[in-house]
Amino acid sequence: MPATVKRAPQRTCLACRKVKAKRELLRLVRTPDGAIEIDPTGKKAGRGAYFCRLPECWEAGLKGNRLENALKSKLSNQEREQLLSQVKELLKGA
Ligand SMILES: [Zn+2]
Repeated sequence: MPATVKRAPQRTCLACRKVKAKRELLRLVRTPDGAIEIDPTGKKAGRGAYFCRLPECWEAGLKGNRLENALKSKLSNQEREQLLSQVKELLKGA
């Protein structure tokens, strides 16, 4: 890619596998101390995964073990539920 062409960074939604501009997605991050958090800024350090800003993608993504594989971390049902309710709140305000 020529250096003069500026392109928005793109990421793939872990649930639906669609490639979108990074700013259209919402990031989930495993912080260096092992906590799993939503990262609305996309700037936190740690291993991340991206989902569309759609509750259905988060629901699908939080269900299986794809997310655990992406983050290389185990998620309890309680953590999944907490993250999902946090995301829903966040998407409501968006
Ligand atoms: Zn998606």
